Amino acid sequence: MTKSKGINTICTHTGELEDKEYKGAISPLYMSTSYAFEDVETKRYPRYFNTPNQVALTKKMAALEHGEDALIFGSGMAAVSTALMAFLKAGDHVVFQDSLYGGTSNLVTEEFDKFGIEYSFAEDAKPNSLKKEIRDNTKVIYIETPSNPLLKITDINAVAKIAREHGLVSMIDNTFASPVNQNPIDFGIDVVIHSATKYMGGHSDILAGTVISTKSNIERIFNMAKNFGGNLSDYTVWLLERSLKTMGLRVRAQNDNALKLAEFLNGLDAVSKVYYPGLKDHPDHELAKQQMKGFGGMLSFELKESLNASDFMKALELIKPSMSLAGVESTILLPSETSHGLLSPDEREKQGIKDNLMRFSVGIEETEDLMDDISQALQKLLKK
Ligand SMILES: *Cc1c(COP(=O)(O)O)cnc(C)c1O
Repeated sequence: MTKSKGINTICTHTGELEDKEYKGAISPLYMSTSYAFEDVETKRYPRYFNTPNQVALTKKMAALEHGEDALIFGSGMAAVSTALMAFLKAGDHVVFQDSLYGGTSNLVTEEFDKFGIEYSFAEDAKPNSLKKEIRDNTKVIYIETPSNPLLKITDINAVAKIAREHGLVSMIDNTFASPVNQNPIDFGIDVVIHSATKYMGGHSDILAGTVISTKSNIERIFNMAKNFGGNLSDYTVWLLERSLKTMGLRVRAQNDNALKLAEFLNGLDAVSKVYYPGLKDHPDHELAKQQMKGFGGMLSFELKESLNASDFMKALELIKPSMSLAGVESTILLPSETSHGLLSPDEREKQGIKDNLMRFSVGIEETEDLMDDISQALQKLLKK
């Protein structure tokens, strides 16, 4: 076997298409929706997920996540929904951990009843809590780690083991970690899902998703995907390949910035709590060290009671309010008013999401400048 390449080499080169005619440095873009008929097996068509640019990018995705094959989708939710539906039918049951991405919870609670698919949400993300929910008709177990917005860590290895013991397909939403920081297939997970809108795209200008697994699982997901029609346009596939070339560099810079900012915030009198798996006092720090190569670019924090989080966010100059995350630019939001605004105050309380909790997506700006921005915003608040 040849030695597998390091992350930045995979990001830059794996799967690239050769420009045979002009010897250009980057993959040529093929926008055709119509190709000459070769044979029944290789009918090329964008919705069959088999155009040259799609196939090239799946090779990079598979290499990044140590899988055999991959599919590229038009959004993270197209990837989540198609992967789940490919392994579930009426009468089946699926177990989810708590605190999932909001779009995923909506998919389950708004759509699954219509298809006769049963589901349970475990009371937390602990392996034993997930195990307790398994029934005779359970087919899939689904986790997401680190979680949004409290950065709780699920034990990937333990969940994969439970899935194997019960003959279930294990799935993970690996978006928050990115393939740079966490490779769940190495811990025995069957299906890895990403919203490529986040760290993979990285510049807040691409909406996409991907699923990585074994050849046979990907074939099963493809058989449903071609009917649901959630492929990504080839132009955006090509842009995503370009974005991925710098993912390793970007995410490592974001890891470094986030750790320094978490420590900085932790040391401020105005800040009452910081949630970041890279901090030694994070309850899941040891687990994070076992399964992550870096702790990621996402952190959350609370100001002390006397300070108003909305006023603080308005006083920031460099760090911008934003609903999405994982771009090269630092952004911040209040989950209680945005991503988790539809939950009742009781439900938020139960999940541990305080009204003044801020979720901070750390970018690649100079660390000093981000610290200065936080300091000047706090100064303004204290003067009020
Ligand atoms: C954004 C996100 C999704 C959904 O992705 P879209 O590209 O918006 O469809 C799924 N999971 C997580 C963790 C996300 O952050």
